[in-house]
Amino acid sequence: MARFMPEIKTTEELAALQLEGLKWTVNHAYHGSDFYRKKLDAAGIKPEDIKSLADLPRLPMTMAHELQGDYPFPLRAVSHDRIVRIHASSGTTGKRKVFCYTAKDLEDWTYFFARCYEMAGLTVEDRVQIAVGYGLWTAGTGFQAGCERYGAMAIPIGPGNVDLQCEFLVDFQTTVLCCTASMGLLLAERVEAEKLRDKINLKKVIFGSERSSQAMRDRIKVLLGVEHLFDIPGMTELYGPGTGLDCLKHEGIHYWADYYILEIIDPETFQPVPEGETGEMVVTTLRKEAAPLIRYRTRDLTRLIPQLCSCGSVLPMHGPLLGRTDDMIIFRAVNIYPGQIDHVLSRVAGVGSEYQIHLERKDDGKDYMTVAVERAKQGDPADDGNLIKAVSTGIKKQAMVSADVRIVNYGDLPRSERKSKRVFDHRPD
Ligand code: ZN
Repeated sequence: MARFMPEIKTTEELAALQLEGLKWTVNHAYHGSDFYRKKLDAAGIKPEDIKSLADLPRLPMTMAHELQGDYPFPLRAVSHDRIVRIHASSGTTGKRKVFCYTAKDLEDWTYFFARCYEMAGLTVEDRVQIAVGYGLWTAGTGFQAGCERYGAMAIPIGPGNVDLQCEFLVDFQTTVLCCTASMGLLLAERVEAEKLRDKINLKKVIFGSERSSQAMRDRIKVLLGVEHLFDIPGMTELYGPGTGLDCLKHEGIHYWADYYILEIIDPETFQPVPEGETGEMVVTTLRKEAAPLIRYRTRDLTRLIPQLCSCGSVLPMHGPLLGRTDDMIIFRAVNIYPGQIDHVLSRVAGVGSEYQIHLERKDDGKDYMTVAVERAKQGDPADDGNLIKAVSTGIKKQAMVSADVRIVNYGDLPRSERKSKRVFDHRPD
């Protein structure tokens, strides 16, 4: 029996719920936050102007850099006495981004995180090894609170320490593992090397916060002997991880449209992309109190899946995250997302999951791209010529550019417990 799914059953009911949430959010933000009131006043919009969901594009967008100006409590729309916790995202430049939560915000987050476990088909008998970061970072605490609310058993081990992870997999007979894909690969390779496969009881892996190629996923799935891999999206601005999950059908990532509205825009023109096409995710929260989001540009790239899932859920789906708009490479005037290279490699048999993209400018003044790809573990070097042809043809088709492809030995490219760096731009600025 569904315990954490929305009670609404139709898209019409969902739209009505979203409109109610949108009106509430704009009104709440306008009256509670100086930042939003100034922004809405400048755009000439009053809360009562929002009469239908079609009014959403009239609202001004919120940019990531605007949050840093309001340090340390950007977007705050409630008084300080109502704030019960903060989290922060790791800022690569300047100050980190800090977000505050009311008790209700944490309650909402815990509830829809429990929904993730329900979506993944867990039972209260499951044992969930939470191998993601704790602390200011939202990940660990979100995974744990949701797990406990759902009623499964949480094993809050945190990230890293592959030896201890393996020991726990065996000793506690963990059935669900939550980690980054990079960590998943490290663990899977260790399980194979130590011949632990028959001693562990893993059924499902939930990947957070990192894009992963099909080849990498296939390898993890085989080595760990698991039935299902899931992708859990999430960002600190939008509560944290757990804002959606693919169901057992794996037709896309169901997202919690009863908590936020997702728009997909062209990152260059800011206009909505045609239905089903890739663009930047823009989110508007429907119930968030302490730091509501109004048309927040996430810089994450994905697409909306136009049809509903065959599982029958009313919750719509988006596609896999294809990277960040910041990761977009401009090469010979063509926009390329690393996710496109993942996509190509996942369709070529004989290559491994690891790759690197190198960009350089040669003496002729032109830019050149080299893609280094690992041969599959059992691959034969004699076959490299065919692999090079298949990968470069794939890149040409998918990204409309020519790349020099180099095949390297299995294990030659570095592994990481966190996110692996894949793009190396050696070109002068
Ligand atoms: Zn589904």
